[in-house]
Amino acid sequence: MDGRRLSLAAIVCLFAEITLRTAAIEPLTRYEFAQVHMGTQVRIVLYSAARAAADEAASAAFARIAALDQALSDYRESSELMEVSRRAGSGPVAVGDDLFRVLRAAREIADRSDGAFDVTVGPLSVLWRHARREGALPDAADLAAARARVGRDKLAIDDRRRTVTLTTKGMQLDLGGIAKGFAADEAAAVLGRCGIDRALIAAGGDIVVRDAPPGRDGWRIAVAAIEGADRPPAGFITLRNAAVSTSGDSEQFAVIGGVRRSHIIDPRTGLALSGRRSVTIVAPTGMTADALATAVSVMGGPDGMRLVETTGGAGAFVVEETDRGVRTFESRRWRALGAFTTRTISDPVASSVPVDSSVAVDSSNPVASAFRPLVPVASAFRRKETRGFRLQAEEEKKKGSAHAP
Ligand code: ADP
Ligand code: MG
Repeated sequence: MDGRRLSLAAIVCLFAEITLRTAAIEPLTRYEFAQVHMGTQVRIVLYSAARAAADEAASAAFARIAALDQALSDYRESSELMEVSRRAGSGPVAVGDDLFRVLRAAREIADRSDGAFDVTVGPLSVLWRHARREGALPDAADLAAARARVGRDKLAIDDRRRTVTLTTKGMQLDLGGIAKGFAADEAAAVLGRCGIDRALIAAGGDIVVRDAPPGRDGWRIAVAAIEGADRPPAGFITLRNAAVSTSGDSEQFAVIGGVRRSHIIDPRTGLALSGRRSVTIVAPTGMTADALATAVSVMGGPDGMRLVETTGGAGAFVVEETDRGVRTFESRRWRALGAFTTRTISDPVASSVPVDSSVAVDSSNPVASAFRPLVPVASAFRRKETRGFRLQAEEEKKKGSAHAP
């Protein structure tokens, strides 16, 4: 399956490579693309010597993300993920390469976070999704029943046979906290195979950057204010060949029974997080950044910092609202990052917004005219209601509209 995908990408990018070889000395132009996948707007910004090469590379990258969405979504009954969940309680299931890689990474973070990050959280996600919609807390008996079907000890991965076993009937995998980061990594890899190395991929708040734009140190990423991505950013970081992810509830919460509840759940208590906390993670890969951001959200500042400090290449910036005011935490790597960034963080942060991908559409602007929404955003957001990842529909719409041209 993976081999077929590789050769497909190779065919798709044939023209791009030829073009690049002959156009090595031509100036690079910036191109921007957007499509909706996994319930969120995915933006690709890349530099290429030729329009045709840029188009082909972006199409191949989006095709890869679409394939991952097909396989990993818990909103599609036909996804491989759902098939595995349906077979819970009935022995090992052989899984494809992509699902296997994600589950293996998820297991590692689950173990290292002591179960704060746990992709078996599905039954609780379903319950809390309903609660958020209804504005009422889940029934205690339903919560207890869901909790009995959640736990990293109930997910067994056989590395040699490449099989996955969900030990308990009614289990449900949920990759909402890790799949977008993985998809951004894979999109970046496809662009690389197409000869495009200067690129940014943003799947909602999960951002992967490769080599810097021409003449620059890196990609400038806005760290949004805690009040939301439509407010002026709190600061900026400049990154290359790295990933940054944010988990926060500034745009993703519901007030249930007078308590603000996040879309992130503590799998160990079964409760959706309450209180305000925002976590921004920098890591070598999108998958690690995405999963760590969710894990640290559950763990909180002190414990979360310990996890980040022991993860190679990872840095974190955490803001928590407590009874006694706002507390912030910065890991060593995050502080080191300050040495080569232009950031001036004066405010708590809530989410990262790729500044470099939010140019306004202006027909007189050659850069902006390269922006081609291949999927009409409005209709795509409607699609999210039923088929995207989780409840991001409403929330991401907010995020998207703040930055959509
Ligand atoms: P976002 O989806 O806004 O980028 P996250 O990456 O933090 O935010 O992912 C949150 C999603 O992850 C939830 O919508 C749910 O699907 C899933 N999830 C919730 N709690 C957990 C958890 N403790 N461990 C793993 N996944 C979780
Ligand atoms: Mg995450």
